[in-house]
Amino acid sequence: MKGKSFFVDLTLCTACRGCQVACKQWKNLPAEKTRNVGSHQNPQDLSAKTIRLVRFNESRSDDGKFSWNFFPEQCRHCIEPPCRYIANLYAPEAVVQDAETGAVVMTDKAILKTARRRVNLEPWQLCPYNVPRMDEETGLWNKCDMCVDRVKAGMKPSCVLSCPSGTMNFGDRKEMLSLAEKRLAEVRKTRPDAYLADPEEVRVIYLCDAPAENYHDTLLAKRGEKGRILAAAQKQAVRIASTGGQEKHSRRDFLTGKLGLGSRKA
Ligand code: SF4
Ligand code: SF4
Repeated sequence: MKGKSFFVDLTLCTACRGCQVACKQWKNLPAEKTRNVGSHQNPQDLSAKTIRLVRFNESRSDDGKFSWNFFPEQCRHCIEPPCRYIANLYAPEAVVQDAETGAVVMTDKAILKTARRRVNLEPWQLCPYNVPRMDEETGLWNKCDMCVDRVKAGMKPSCVLSCPSGTMNFGDRKEMLSLAEKRLAEVRKTRPDAYLADPEEVRVIYLCDAPAENYHDTLLAKRGEKGRILAAAQKQAVRIASTGGQEKHSRRDFLTGKLGLGSRKA
């Protein structure tokens, strides 16, 4: 498979948050006013201004052993991204997929609306990982874009460049999948339950050594979630068409790339 991918080795993450800050710097995104809620995690959720967030979670194993589970969260750059299909029903070219890298990019057209008014969808209606967020003031949706400007200029994404622990890796997809399998085999020598999160579906591949729920409930896409999102979007497309909005499209059109919604990667 062509294109780029991240390999994120959660067994090495120390939650320094260098990646979170580096993302803000490169994307020129402002800080957000937050308050202490008794957690090192800050802020408490992704937003249109915080498109990369290091989540902190405490867990206890069955034998009472305490552990921190750190989860640097970002858009997974799905191989077949539901967000692209759904957002483009409301605003053509709101989301495009770069043919060379596979990056899924929300453009300056990502204000979702029907012929009459803005549509305030919830993030989980666009994304099985609950990632993108809408700016409440402007209506513009935002998320990680793989630093595609840097990547096209031969540089690494800003978050990857800033990582001091070896957690964040980026490169050709084949190379990243191979690195992920190699590290998985190493980690399984001492932690046999280690696994890769949805490696065939996404371009951000996490290596995990704790149950998914110990990181966050969106580490993995729920089984069938993508299908449910697309089915709901199909119903919505019918409704939009009947109200004089965007044209109706079938899921098959989406999956076979007939919609012209940006170039499709496989
Ligand atoms: Fe932020 Fe770029 Fe990393 Fe995406 S790839 S999380 S935009 S620094
Ligand atoms: Fe779109 Fe969500 Fe997939 Fe990112 S993770 S490409 S926002 S569907």
